[in-house]
Amino acid sequence: MKLICEICENTDVLSFNETFKGIDIVGCRQCGLVWNRNMMDEREQLEFYQKQNRAHGGVNRTYLLSMLARASCVVEFLGDDLRAGQKHLDVGCAEGTLLALTRTQGLDVQGLEVDVNHSRFARDVRKLPVLPMTLDNAPLEARSFDLLSFVHVVEHLFHPVQVLSTARDLLRDNGLMYIEVPNMNQPLPGVRHFFRPIHNFYFTANTLRALVSRAGFTPLRVGFSGRDGSVQLLAKKSETAASVSDVAVWRDDVRHYRAKAQRERNRPYLLFKLLFTHLLAQEWEKRKALRRYGQLLPELHTTTD
Ligand SMILES: [Zn+2]
Repeated sequence: MKLICEICENTDVLSFNETFKGIDIVGCRQCGLVWNRNMMDEREQLEFYQKQNRAHGGVNRTYLLSMLARASCVVEFLGDDLRAGQKHLDVGCAEGTLLALTRTQGLDVQGLEVDVNHSRFARDVRKLPVLPMTLDNAPLEARSFDLLSFVHVVEHLFHPVQVLSTARDLLRDNGLMYIEVPNMNQPLPGVRHFFRPIHNFYFTANTLRALVSRAGFTPLRVGFSGRDGSVQLLAKKSETAASVSDVAVWRDDVRHYRAKAQRERNRPYLLFKLLFTHLLAQEWEKRKALRRYGQLLPELHTTTD
């Protein structure tokens, strides 16, 4: 059971009264970070991701297109910060779409993915160097990367500050880190649709900046993915980790988010609105991504549903 706030080590939490399939959502009264008090621990999590995640098991064309839309939003957010020759490590790279795109821009890529089907697809079909390991087991050289990415990974971690600190050791001085996570500043239609057993933490742009600062990074810029409104953050390796008082500038009022969750869970039209706008946005981003990057990824045209 996670009782202590990951950002400020405070134990004074506010319960959201959002419970479903064993989850128990709480928020820190000091910094506003929201988490599931009954979150999966590291061992449970590793077994889950190795075997059960991504129920469709194989990688089909519909899934690849959806991941292309996600990865193209990352590439476009990073823009000129992506440069040929950089060494890029994608942690939790899944089927490797982001790495396949950064490789076409001349980056030297490496992936880590514990999901067996996905890491196999990345290696066998895309010929990407992907290790089926977690960050702490991977034989990677310290201070050897220019860019790290965690796309929809950090919300699943049990000790995000510790994991990001480990990742920081792999970066060269002034190295960059990209993080993307679901956004609490969106409609929150109840536990089944927003709060989910597989997500341990729930972030806003504020709490994500506070988190990376505590792990030894300086936030550079924040954006929101055109595909699903996820928070996008670019940060730079800093010399030291920030103290709890240093990150107080990014404090959220947790009472606001609890009130929002309670208000919105009784409004079923929000779910409809969310699904509808997301479906349209995802469709739009898929088409755009296919037009821009489709020719660069030949396996998109040979994989079927
Ligand atoms: Zn806190």
